[in-house]
Amino acid sequence: TEKTVGFIGLGRMGAPMAGNLARAGYKLVLFDRQSDITNRLAEQCGGRAATTPAEVGRSASVVITMLPDSTAVRQVVLGDGREWGIADAAPVGTIFVDMSSSAPADTRGLAGELQQRSLSLIDAPVSGGVAKAVSGTLTIITGGEPALIESISPLLLAMGSSCIHAGPIGAAHAMKALNNYVSAAGLAAASEALRIGSTFGIDPAVMVDIFNASTGRNNSTENKFHQFILPQTFASGFSLGLMAKDLDLARDLADTSGEFAPLLKRCAELWRQAAEALGPDADHTEFIRFTRN
Ligand code: NAD
Repeated sequence: TEKTVGFIGLGRMGAPMAGNLARAGYKLVLFDRQSDITNRLAEQCGGRAATTPAEVGRSASVVITMLPDSTAVRQVVLGDGREWGIADAAPVGTIFVDMSSSAPADTRGLAGELQQRSLSLIDAPVSGGVAKAVSGTLTIITGGEPALIESISPLLLAMGSSCIHAGPIGAAHAMKALNNYVSAAGLAAASEALRIGSTFGIDPAVMVDIFNASTGRNNSTENKFHQFILPQTFASGFSLGLMAKDLDLARDLADTSGEFAPLLKRCAELWRQAAEALGPDADHTEFIRFTRN
C-alpha cells in the first residue's frame, strides 16, 4: 500500500483532483456515496472502486477527503453508527488529508480523536475552483505538523501549483473560510454596482472593463463577470449553497473571536438568503440574480 492513496468525495472538485493523482502515478482507491460516480472515475483513471469507507481505510496509507462539509467528513472518517468509518479500518500511521472547506473547530476535534488512535490529520483546503482543479494548479493551504505536511508534499503538488502553510491544525480551514468571505464580499459588491450602473444607463460589459482598469477590480470582476455572469452561463462549478456554508464558517469564527465584523455578518446573512431563494445547487455567480429578501 506504499503509494496507494484513498480519495473520498468525487464531485466537481474531487474527480479532477483524483484524475491528476492518477496521471502522476499514484494508485487510487476511490469512494463516493454515489456509486455510479465512483465506478465511472475508477474506470477512467485505472483506480479501484471501494463500496464502503472502511474498505478505503484498509487499502491506503494516505486518505484524502474532498467532501461538502465537516459533517460529511466526520461521517466517512469515524463512521455514523450504521456504517464503519475509514479510521476503524486504517492501520496506525495512516495520514488523513481533509481538502474540503471544513469547519476549523471540527477539524481540531477530529484531529484529537484520530490522534488517540495513532492516526494523523492535515487540513489542506484549496482555492482556484474547478478550472484549476482540472489543470492541477490549485493553491493548497495547509494546516498541521510541518514535517507531516512535508512528507506528502509531492502528493499535494500533483494537484496544485503551490502549498502555503497557514499554521497548526485547523488554521488552513479557518483561512479558507476567511478567504471565501473576502471573495464573496467582492462578488456581492461588484454585482450591486453593476445593477446600479446599468440602471443608470452604463453598458455592463463596459463597466466590468472599467473596474478591471481601476481600483475596484477583484477576482470576480477579472475572472467571473465576462465568463459566467454577463453571458448568464453561471457555470463556475462552485455552488451557492457551498459558498453560503463558507460564510457561515467565517461568521462562526468571528463570533468565537469576538472581533467587530459587521460586514461579514451582513454578508453571511445575504448569501444564506440567496441560497434559500435560488436554491443551494444554483451556481454562486447567480448571486447577482438575488435582489430582494
Ligand atoms: P460537490 O457537491 O460537487 O461534490 C461533493 C461530493 O461528495 C459528491 O460527489 C457527493 O456525492 C459526495 N458526498 C457527499 N457526502 C458524502 C458522504 N457522506 N460520503 C461519501 N460521499 C459524499 O462539491 P465540490 O464543489 O466538489 O466541493 C467539495 C468541497 O470543496 C467543498 O467543501 C467545497 O466548499 C470545496 N471547494 C469547492 C470549490 C469549487 O469551485 N467547486 C473550490 C474550492 C473548494
